[in-house]
Amino acid sequence: MKLPTTPDGWAVRVSSLVKAAREIQGLPRFPIDVAAIARDYSRNVFPGEPITLVHGEALGERFEGALAPNPKAKGEWGIIYNSSIKSKGRINFTLAHELGHYLLHRQGEPIFCSKRDMWAWDSEYGAREAEANRFASVLLMPFDDFRVHTETFRRPTLSDFEFLRDRYEVSVTAAILKWLEMTTRRAMLVVSKDGFIDWSWGSTPLFKSGVFFRARQETIAIPERSLAASAQTVPNNSVQHPPGVWHPVESVFESVLFSEYHDMSLSLLIYSGDAIGRSIIEMDDETVPDTFDKFSV
Ligand SMILES: [Zn+2]
Repeated sequence: MKLPTTPDGWAVRVSSLVKAAREIQGLPRFPIDVAAIARDYSRNVFPGEPITLVHGEALGERFEGALAPNPKAKGEWGIIYNSSIKSKGRINFTLAHELGHYLLHRQGEPIFCSKRDMWAWDSEYGAREAEANRFASVLLMPFDDFRVHTETFRRPTLSDFEFLRDRYEVSVTAAILKWLEMTTRRAMLVVSKDGFIDWSWGSTPLFKSGVFFRARQETIAIPERSLAASAQTVPNNSVQHPPGVWHPVESVFESVLFSEYHDMSLSLLIYSGDAIGRSIIEMDDETVPDTFDKFSV
């Protein structure tokens, strides 16, 4: 059988095998156990280059995971996650990301993936990282099932994504980015640290209405009256802000989550349905829709 060459092709191939196997075994389809699949699948399809090691290692602060050849056994590969990560969802997503590198990019050299690379679309490895993320996203959260479980989302809060995190064993961040990829709502995820936006990602309808932040290019403080700025002192984790908080003339619904990355806060922003404010928030020539479409975790 001809082997796939794209992230989607590989993800669909592996996903359909898993689905069939689980049906035969009478087991639920989700969550997908990437560690077991990586070993079995690689041994079956690439017997000369199997993944023989899947484990956690001390990779320091910077790295989330890695794909590496076994220095002692030619042809063998290992996929590694940072053992300091305690979130099962982050570990599973990282393993799927590394399996994506194995299927799409292995060339004999190790690939180390930083936390930033995992969400990067503007690094020198951006295309490769985006492909691995795309593979992981489609494998762990297939569109058909994801759609069924999000079709009632009108004004979701971050708590709604905790259900998806548990169903698919992914990070909340990965589930939100998946939803932002598919939704017709104008919505954005803002990840902030120490009072400043670290990175953000918006849905296509929001982007097309001209609303986004250029946090990679300039330092942007989170709004003083935002929930993200109030940190853990706020008992409610969601609020409808009046205009002037997240947007000059739009009311924005914000929910926050502080737990997933301990030093980061996640804000999910839902803008009003009508696209107003084009050119109120600055446009960025580098973030053209083509680039936007490529990043699809
Ligand atoms: Zn990577």
